[in-house]
Amino acid sequence: MSFSMPDHVKVREVGPRDGFQNEPEVIPTAEKVRLIGLLMQTGLRRMEVTSFVRPDVIPQLADAAAVLEGIERVDGVSLSVLIPNERGLDNALKLQDRFDEVSVFMSASESHNQHNVNRSVQESLAGLERVIARAREAGLGCEAVIATSFGCPYEGHVRPEHVYEIAERLAAAGAGEIGFGDTTGMANPLQVREFFRSAFERLPGVELTAHFHNTRGQGLANVFAALEVGVASFESSFGELGGCPVPAGSTGNIASEDLVSMLHEMGIATGIELPRLLDASAAVQMLLGRPLGSHLLTAGPIDWHQSR
Ligand code: ZN
Repeated sequence: MSFSMPDHVKVREVGPRDGFQNEPEVIPTAEKVRLIGLLMQTGLRRMEVTSFVRPDVIPQLADAAAVLEGIERVDGVSLSVLIPNERGLDNALKLQDRFDEVSVFMSASESHNQHNVNRSVQESLAGLERVIARAREAGLGCEAVIATSFGCPYEGHVRPEHVYEIAERLAAAGAGEIGFGDTTGMANPLQVREFFRSAFERLPGVELTAHFHNTRGQGLANVFAALEVGVASFESSFGELGGCPVPAGSTGNIASEDLVSMLHEMGIATGIELPRLLDASAAVQMLLGRPLGSHLLTAGPIDWHQSR
């Protein structure tokens, strides 16, 4: 096989959305804004900061507008918001000068999509095509994330061909970036390598992003497999916050600091200052008052002991 590791990768921090969304206790808006501020000082260039979902469905993100209004923008940091449907887009567009991109999402498998958003895959696709088109008309960048791309907790195997067909439709609708989500931590590295190798052939000109969860401890191994075939865009969550609303037990995204540490040790640049990122992760751990899944928060960075 050809071996063409990227020498620079993009990391989108999704903790303020994917992470906070799964916290049972509502985090005060001011604390969210403070933590996002810390993350914006790390050199991160992409961050998903909130979601315009129905407040009665996800009370934790009911303050989406207040969060966006509270964030002090930093040049070069692209902010995105997660949009579930056209009504969510309508609400987000009222604050259009406060963000740069939207993320839309659906699951590749029928039963996960039904459990998560109560729609069929075809209904979701049709709805997202409209959201993407309108977001593009408004001048926003657009990422479409396909959850359960590597397996479904209810159905098991998901055919890659089926995932590529969904991705092609979302790309045709105007999504310049497609995220492939392993929302419930079912992917393995060999599967990931084969998946992305074919995905690049099927989706020329589209940015392909890997969104791995560390639910079963395979997150970074999956990152390595994706790197091997040229994936250069990843999503992760500080502290290893995160999860999936369904089913229960679908724990954390890969930790941003674990990802960044591994990449830097391998000589792959991210533009992120690891000590500052660790400060942000330590701050969210302190706020939540429990040990988070992040390995670096426990062990410290590799050069930590020498430097003290
Ligand atoms: Zn996720």
